[in-house]
Amino acid sequence: MRGIIKILLLSAVAAGIALWVAELPGRVVAEVAGYTVETSTPVALVALTIVLVVGVLVLRGIGWLLRLPGMGGRWRAERRRIGGEVAVTRTLVAIAAGAGNDARREAHKARRLLGDSAQTLLLAAEAARLAARDDEAEVVFRALANRPDAALLGYRGLFRLAVGREDWAEAASLATQAERAHPGADWLRPERSRLAVRAGNWLGALELTPRGPASAALAVAAARAETDPRKAAALRKKAWKLDPALTPAALDYAQGLRDAGKERTAQSVIRHAWTVAPHPDLATFALAPVTGPLDRAQAAQRLAGANPEHPESRLLLARTALEAGLVGEARHQADAALGAGLHQRRLFLLQAEIAEAEGHDPAAGRAALRQAAEADPNSAWRCESCHAAFPAWYAACPACSAAGSLRWKAG
Ligand SMILES: [Zn+2]
Repeated sequence: MRGIIKILLLSAVAAGIALWVAELPGRVVAEVAGYTVETSTPVALVALTIVLVVGVLVLRGIGWLLRLPGMGGRWRAERRRIGGEVAVTRTLVAIAAGAGNDARREAHKARRLLGDSAQTLLLAAEAARLAARDDEAEVVFRALANRPDAALLGYRGLFRLAVGREDWAEAASLATQAERAHPGADWLRPERSRLAVRAGNWLGALELTPRGPASAALAVAAARAETDPRKAAALRKKAWKLDPALTPAALDYAQGLRDAGKERTAQSVIRHAWTVAPHPDLATFALAPVTGPLDRAQAAQRLAGANPEHPESRLLLARTALEAGLVGEARHQADAALGAGLHQRRLFLLQAEIAEAEGHDPAAGRAALRQAAEADPNSAWRCESCHAAFPAWYAACPACSAAGSLRWKAG
């Protein structure tokens, strides 16, 4: 309704103006280049209005023509941007699919269309790495490292390349530069810790490793490498507190206590370790000061009492009973170990010895030896990361360098 009233009002005003113009009196005479034009005032006003409108339209047309080249440039830039974004997406898809050469081609296209931004450089470097073009990846990662806004990305890529070719000195230098570019970056701690382990810098690795089994193993290694006796003692205690179930941590701590004349505390450390994780070396340590076979059997009973049902306790009691000439007790404990699910070679070899000591059935000894040949392998230090087995413990796996990954386990 309002719109209609508005149109009616405007029409009335326009009609009024038209009537007023049509009735204007007088004439207009103009002389242009020797020509004389004479007309009435209303016609002259209408002609002037038409000239003004045409003039404005012509000026607008000229402005549009002048802007045309810029518009073409923007259109081309937009096309490049869209093409570049398509290339970025294709690069990401190719990287996810593991197609290194496709990723490399698309990344080059993205760089050509979008220029060298941190994003396109990173994609180009990762694509080159995937395509095993490490030299090319290194050049692009260096370009990234030189950009203040993306230096960490560059150093991280260069660091990985250095680790890949096992250039530990270069990797350590790059880790330091990355730390400077982006202090406190989370990914750096485990990487620097791994480097410290590889370099045998146990204390450095310990400082970079969060609390847990790995830090306990590193503390054991750091204590063994420490030349200051007080610092070594503190590290031994720290390792044991970090993981009392880690046999070398308990053994080293207890040995330090024994050396300091604190035999009772040493024995209580070993007894606690036997409760949480029995290991033959703990028994060897606990029984070391005891000489007589019967006394050793009794000491073994005290230790095994901390974890009486464990097969390791049964084996220890069987071995010490046999050495003390208590053959019946040895047989009872060895059978109990078998009943507890232990089918390892060492148990059947012990049973063969017990059968020989019993002396009444030569066939029983031969049967035990046959079983030993077919038995499960003995427990060993096994890497939880790469599953390699070792007869001795190491703070870092000799096969895969994982820190604190070795656990005493059956095969
Ligand atoms: Zn390993």
